[in-house]
Amino acid sequence: MNNSNISNYVPSSSALNNKVIIVTGAGDGIGKTAAIAYAATGATVVLLGRTLSKLEATYDEIEAHGFAQPAIFPINFESAVEADYQALVEAIEETFGKIDGLLHNAAMLGARTPLKQYADDVWQRVMQVNVNAPFMLTKALLPLCNKKASIVFTSSSVAHRGKAYWGAYSVSKAAVLNLMEVLADELDGTSEIRTNTINPGATRTAMRATAYPAEDPSTVKAPEEIMNAYVFLMSAESENINGQAFDL
Ligand code: NDP
Repeated sequence: MNNSNISNYVPSSSALNNKVIIVTGAGDGIGKTAAIAYAATGATVVLLGRTLSKLEATYDEIEAHGFAQPAIFPINFESAVEADYQALVEAIEETFGKIDGLLHNAAMLGARTPLKQYADDVWQRVMQVNVNAPFMLTKALLPLCNKKASIVFTSSSVAHRGKAYWGAYSVSKAAVLNLMEVLADELDGTSEIRTNTINPGATRTAMRATAYPAEDPSTVKAPEEIMNAYVFLMSAESENINGQAFDL
């Protein structure tokens, strides 16, 4: 894990010019900030998420800045099935033709409780949103990926070593890391498409506040502070980086 390139990178305002980038969970937290950061550096962003009003707020903010007009595709990863992913692919193909980037950011925290009390239905929902959905979305969108597209999954510190009371979230993030590695290994030598994970580390969002209710949010970094790394992984600067896990 070499973080030096990623941590020294400062994007120009045209770093992502002419790129079409899909962001999941673009209505809140890190996903919203990443969508705006991609738009600010020249990308046309496709906003995916489950709450239309939140996606519209992101859309409005991007428009207000005068960045390239984004698109919204509402989708609930908890209930989406193959037909929904195919409909999404058709709509994106019709509108944009190809994509250059895919940020898998949407996730749910689930319960913070010992395994012996972990509810089965919550476990399954977390695995659906955090692991199965990124798999299905990636599979559906691979045919639309441009030659040098970048697929970024979102990991977590608990992905590297399971942690008490983090239950399905911890397991799901370890699975996401492995999913990226499987894909990266398949792409290696067969394609110029690359895939990596990013672990944002403690970041001031609604999810963080739910996980650490006693924490003073002002002691945690804002999503804006990690955006250079998010842009780096979508930019030409990271074209030769595949199969890496970046911890911010
Ligand atoms: P937030 O809870 O603030 O945002 C999560 C986003 O995912 C929201 O836009 C949410 O939509 C969306 N989402 C959740 N469930 C679904 C669903 N079923 N279908 C569609 N969209 C859904 O989380 P963060 O911004 O903090 O987290 C972003 C990523 O970073 C996640 O993958 C998280 O695991 C990871 N991460 C975050 C850390 C942190 O400290 N914040 C640390 C390590 C990793 P809606 O708003 O409509 O609910």
